[in-house]
Amino acid sequence: MKDTDQEVKYEKSSIQGTAAALQEEMEGFMDQAVRLAKKAYLNGDTPIGCVIVKDGQILSKAYNQRNKKKNTLGHAEIMAIDKASKRIGDWRLENCTLYVTLEPCQMCAGAILQARIPRVVIGCMNPKAGCAGSVINLLDMKAFNHRVDVVTGIREEICSSLMRDFFKNLREGKGFSLK
Ligand SMILES: [Zn+2]
Repeated sequence: MKDTDQEVKYEKSSIQGTAAALQEEMEGFMDQAVRLAKKAYLNGDTPIGCVIVKDGQILSKAYNQRNKKKNTLGHAEIMAIDKASKRIGDWRLENCTLYVTLEPCQMCAGAILQARIPRVVIGCMNPKAGCAGSVINLLDMKAFNHRVDVVTGIREEICSSLMRDFFKNLREGKGFSLK
């Protein structure tokens, strides 16, 4: 084998190693968001959880409390953005990654843009109301001066099964307990 082939091989395996590490990191933070989504579930709120991460550390956590607080602004992402801004003393959440179990709505996608968050990682999509690619993609519009890198499908099955269970319980009038 020529030296150059060997170099190419090393390079490839290090890229694959980096990709695997990134995937693992994203799944780890999404697991935290799922834990928060379960808190919403137990309160009878749509199970959506969110964490904002900066420099590999969780800056803020929140879960959907719209029903509990009887407030439209009680979405997980809005509250996580609020907490993160208070924590760092800046409305700009540059160099942050927002993890959310369900594709953001138009209000939260708007807040993500306004906060200049550069990267969003999504668990499962929301075909009927999502604004990060389903109904519209507010996070990636040429006309806006800020655009967001979006990663989808991280822990998708667990995020979507939480939603399915929740709405099944709601329809059947069962309580909101987790198996
Ligand atoms: Zn929202």
